[in-house]
Amino acid sequence: MSKIVVLGAAESGVGAALLAKAKGFEVFVSDAAHISDRYKQDLIDARIAFEEGGHDFDAILSADEVVKSPGIPEKAPIIKALHEKNIPVISELEFGARFTKAKFVAITGSNGKTTTTLLTYHLLRMAGLNVGLAGNVGQSLARQVIEDKFEYYVLEVSSFQLDGMYQFKADIAILTNITPDHLDRYEYKFQNYINSKFRVLQNMDKSGYFITYQQDEVVQNELANRTLQTNLLPISLAEKVETGAYSDHDQLHFMLPNGQRFYVAHTSLTINGKHNYLNAMGATLVAALWGVSPEKIEEGLKTFQNAPHRLEEVATINGVRFVNDSKATNVDSVKYALDSFKQPVVLIAGGVDKGNDYSLIENLVLEKVKALVCMGKDNEPLHKAFDGKVTKIVDTYSIADAVREAAHLAENGDVVLLSPACASFDLFRNYEDRGDQFKLQVKHLDDESLHSL
Ligand code: ADP
Repeated sequence: MSKIVVLGAAESGVGAALLAKAKGFEVFVSDAAHISDRYKQDLIDARIAFEEGGHDFDAILSADEVVKSPGIPEKAPIIKALHEKNIPVISELEFGARFTKAKFVAITGSNGKTTTTLLTYHLLRMAGLNVGLAGNVGQSLARQVIEDKFEYYVLEVSSFQLDGMYQFKADIAILTNITPDHLDRYEYKFQNYINSKFRVLQNMDKSGYFITYQQDEVVQNELANRTLQTNLLPISLAEKVETGAYSDHDQLHFMLPNGQRFYVAHTSLTINGKHNYLNAMGATLVAALWGVSPEKIEEGLKTFQNAPHRLEEVATINGVRFVNDSKATNVDSVKYALDSFKQPVVLIAGGVDKGNDYSLIENLVLEKVKALVCMGKDNEPLHKAFDGKVTKIVDTYSIADAVREAAHLAENGDVVLLSPACASFDLFRNYEDRGDQFKLQVKHLDDESLHSL
C-alpha cells in the first residue's frame, strides 16, 4: 500500500486526505500550524493520522507522494527536503482529478476568477447540468470526488494549485488576464508567474477550448511565443472576432465553433462594468459549448447574484449610491471599477500598498474622482500619486471616519466607492472583514438619515 502525506489541513488538504483514505492509501496529515476543530473532527472521524504545530520530517519523507496545500510556499524547508529526495509533490486538484471522469472547466487569471467561476456554475446548474463547483471556492474537488456524482466541474484555479498540476487536463480553460501578482512566491520574476498561469493549458489538445481576453497584452505576448495545442476562443472588448465572443456598445455577441451565433443585451447582466462583460462572455461560451441554449443562458445571466464585495451595491442614501468593492486589492481592479461608473465618484482607497503603480488609473481618477478618501496606516503612496491632481484628498485612519468623510463629500447623484487597490491587513482581518465593516458603517448612516427625517 502506498503512502500519501498531506501537508496543510484546511479544505483542500483535508479533502485530499479523505479521498486518499477512501481509496485505500495509508494517509498522514501534517500542518505546521493549528488545525481548526472542524477539520480535526473530519480527520478523527475518518481515522486519519495527523499532527499539528510542526512537521515530523521522518514521517513525511517516507511518503510515496505528497499533496501540498496551496498556501505552503516552495521555499518551505519541508518542501525543499521532499524535492531533494525526489518525492513527488502535487496539488489537491491534481490528486482529485485522478478519481473522476467528469469534464472540467478550469478558470484562472489574476482578476475575475471567482466571478467567472460562480457565473459559469450558475449558468450550467440553472440549465439542469449535473455540475459541481470546486477549487478555490466552496468544497475541495478531492472531497467531492469521493462520491463522484457530478458529470462536470467548474474549477477556480489559483497559480499555486497550478504549480502542483502535471497530468491534469482541462476540457475548457479560461485565462481571464495576467497582471503582476504574488511575485513574492515567484522569485520576483513576472515570467515565472506567467508560466504558472499558462500551465492551465497543459495536456490540452484539439478536443479542448482555450478562452482568453484578446486585449490582454501579457497573455497575447505569451501566446505569440507558444504553439497552442488546443482551440483558441478569444473574448474581446474591442474588435469583432470570427469565433469566440465580443462586446459592442450594447450587446455581447457569440460565435461558436459549430457555427451557432447569438447575442445577449448588456442589460440582461446583473453585474456591472466592462470587466464583467468579459466574465460573462467567458461563462457563456462554456455553457454554449456544453450545449446550454441561448434562452437558458440569458435566463441564467438575469438571475445571477455575484459573491459579495465585488462592486456590491450597498445602499442609496440621500441620492448617493454606496458601493462595496473591497475585493479590489490591486490597481487593475480599481481601473475597472471606476470605469463602470458614469457619475462622479468619491473614492475610498488605501491599505497595505503592494508597490502599486497608480499611473495606470491616473486619467480615470482625473476624469471621475471628485474626492479621494485615503484610509490606511500609510496614506503616503496615494498622496504621492494624487496630491495636486484630485480636487480634494483627505486622510482617515478608520472605516467609520472614511465612510463619514465620504458621505460628507458626496452630493445627490454621486457614488461613494470603496475600491482600495490595496491589501487590508493594516486595519482589517481580510478583505471580507473590510467590506463587512464598510457595509455596517453605511447602514449606520442610513439609520441616522432616517432618524433625521
Ligand atoms: P479573483 O477571484 O480573481 O480575485 P473576483 O471575481 O473575485 O476575482 O474579482 C476581484 C476584483 O477584480 C473585482 O472586485 C473587480 O474589481 C476585478 N475584476 C473582476 N473581473 C475582472 C476582469 N475580468 N478583469 C479585470 N478585473 C476584474
